[in-house]
Parts: sequence; structure tokens; C-alpha cells
Amino acid sequence: MISSVGAPRKNLLQLLDVLETLYGRKTPEWPTDPYLSLVWLHCGYPASDTRCAKGWESLNNLIGVDADRLLAAKPEQLATALKPGGMVPELRAMRLKEIAERIVKQYAGDLRAGLNGLSVPQARAALKQFPNIGDPGADRILLFAGISPVAAVPSNCPHVLVRIQLGQERENYGRTYREAQQIMEEAISPKFDSRTRAYLLLKHHGQQLCKTSKPKCDVCPVSSDCAFSAGKLRGRPR
Ligand code: SF4
Repeated sequence: MISSVGAPRKNLLQLLDVLETLYGRKTPEWPTDPYLSLVWLHCGYPASDTRCAKGWESLNNLIGVDADRLLAAKPEQLATALKPGGMVPELRAMRLKEIAERIVKQYAGDLRAGLNGLSVPQARAALKQFPNIGDPGADRILLFAGISPVAAVPSNCPHVLVRIQLGQERENYGRTYREAQQIMEEAISPKFDSRTRAYLLLKHHGQQLCKTSKPKCDVCPVSSDCAFSAGKLRGRPR
């Protein structure tokens, strides 16, 4: 395939190299342990790394994150600790208690050990029993915990992969996510390092340049190899 500047189009691995040159090597900003990752996700709302980090720090300072501590704390204490993370701290406090209770009763305090004994579909289904966890959240946990190198895609920007490879993303989020996952599955080898690297670079690119609305294609280093950008030049994204 030919890029918009007439050269052979780079493949996804080469484009990730370009993004890494721009952004540097990325590392996860959240805890990768499965249980701690669940707690982190409820530390902020609307969920963002910044809000979750604030709620996480406050929760650690005021109560702690061990399941026993979450269970022992009063709901109002938990809500106070979660307040720096944003909206609905009372609801997030209840959900943390629900998570902690399930960890203690169903997993004897060790979610990782429980997941390790399951197939990928079983592990995904087990994680989706926790509040607010869908396929994107479950896949992220399995990948970054080193349990399975599934083709996880950042939940807030599946459009990045779709735009680069196919053009304009779909209006239906689920369809866009599945398309992105299929691209990841086919283009990135099923190794932990390869897939976590791709996930982190695409997530960062979605936050910095390839935003949901008004992507900054004019300053994007992969625009000459991007189907969305090529479609814009022709006046017709997919
Ligand atoms: S050229 Fe535009 S649409 Fe393509 S990856 Fe860059 S910012 Fe996203």
C-alpha cells in the first residue's frame, strides 16, 4: 500500500517506533496487580489517570488499599478519602467495599492466584463480575498483570488504531473497539512486552494528538501513513 506522500505505507510496528521517538518509552501509571488495578479504577470519576491518581494517593494516606482495611472502614470514611478523585465518592466507596468483600470471600484475598487458574474467557468473565468492569477493563488487567497477552486496546481511544489503519471510526463504540482489537490481534505479536508497549503508545497518542474530536493531524508524525488523514486530504474519511 502507498502512503499519502507516495512512499510505501509503514506497517503498524514502524508507526509505533515513530510514536515512541516522539513520546519516549511509556510505562503504566496505574498498579498492575489485578486487585490493586480494580481499586485504582474506582479512585477517580469520571475516570482518568489524573483523577484516579489523586483518589489513590488520598485513599492510601487516609485508609490504605488492602481489602481488610477497605472492609473495616466506614462508608463515609471511604467516601471522604475518595473525594479528591472526583464525582460520586459515596458510590465509589460502596463499590470498593463490594470489591473487597468479593476478594476476601471468593478469592481468599488473592485475585491473581484465582485468575491464574482460569482460561482467558473464564478470567475475563470473572473480572466482569466486579463493578464497572467490561471487556476493555478486563483485558487491560489480564495484559498488564502478566496473566495473558490479550489484544487489549485503550478503552478511551480505540479510534486511534482504526483511524490509522482503516479511516474514520464508527459511531458505534463497541464496533470501533472490536475493529481496533482485531487490528491489534493481527499486527502485534502476542507477547507481553509488545502488546503493553503498543497499548501505552496508542493511549498516549490518543490523549496528545489523536483526540476523539479534532485530531491534530497537521502536527501528527504518522499522518502520511494514516488512512483517516489520507481520507481527509481526499475529502472523504471512511
Ligand atoms: S493523522 Fe490524525 S487521525 Fe491519523 S493518527 Fe495522526 S492525529 Fe490520528
